[in-house]
Amino acid sequence: MKDLEPWEWNEQTWRQKVDKVRAGKSLVPKSWPGKARVAVALSFDSDHETNELRDGGESIGRLSWGQYGTRKGIPRIKSALDKHDIKATFFVPAVSALLHPEEQVMLSREGHEIGIHGWIHELNSVLPYEDERDLMFRSTDTLEKITGTRPVGLRTPSWDFSPNTLKIERELGLLYDSSLMADDDCYELLEEGEPTGIIELPVEWVRDDAVYFNMHRFQALRPYTPPEAVFDIFRREFDRAYEENGLFLLTMHPHVIGYRSRIGILEQLIEHIKGHDDVWFATHSEVAEHVKATCLD
Ligand SMILES: [Zn+2]
Repeated sequence: MKDLEPWEWNEQTWRQKVDKVRAGKSLVPKSWPGKARVAVALSFDSDHETNELRDGGESIGRLSWGQYGTRKGIPRIKSALDKHDIKATFFVPAVSALLHPEEQVMLSREGHEIGIHGWIHELNSVLPYEDERDLMFRSTDTLEKITGTRPVGLRTPSWDFSPNTLKIERELGLLYDSSLMADDDCYELLEEGEPTGIIELPVEWVRDDAVYFNMHRFQALRPYTPPEAVFDIFRREFDRAYEENGLFLLTMHPHVIGYRSRIGILEQLIEHIKGHDDVWFATHSEVAEHVKATCLD
């Protein structure tokens, strides 16, 4: 039988698609720890060389760009965080962690969180269930072996979420996901209408450095944005989160934000945030634990 066109689907068909993974209960706590008015969760996706490897690429130039992330990006990020004693979350593909184990050990020892970010930054939505499951379990084991701590959260590479991803997260017993965008604040993920207890810490392209800066030499991708404009967008996102007593979650990449002309965005943003009273800087797992304990029965 030929596949039906979307406009020929019956109601059950389109409802099933929408209900596969859905935002459930909104999880906005009455207050954050220390009576803070806002939770600030900074994350860095340490893709490094895997952005090139995952497509089967072997461009020496693009691999060197990935290496910049570990050589220059991570040290600059670390110094910005250390200056204000802020702990952040680093989502690391297993291959990136195997290439740079000392980086993960150092970050983990200093109190930062290391989260799952796929095996080689593969796209989950093109994988059969068995392969996606195998890679996710191996990635989790690999990070645990390197850092000594078993990760509790996943950010899917490129925020690419397959129809099986949530099921695998449940099998892994994860505390949270940070790949979806149904809200500004935390929510519980539903799988086919059923509450899962897994906390979503939502991301958004608007709060991601890569969309403003990335370019590709051989594609028409040239979205360079002035650093002040990016700072302004991030600042506005924070200011409103503060007004709403919500969550401000920002995604950055060592090989994107780490440049001399850009690291100032992060430094200025931290200073802007620190200029407010009652701010709670936390790792993603700390945010997830807090909302789970206070908002989920
Ligand atoms: Zn990534």
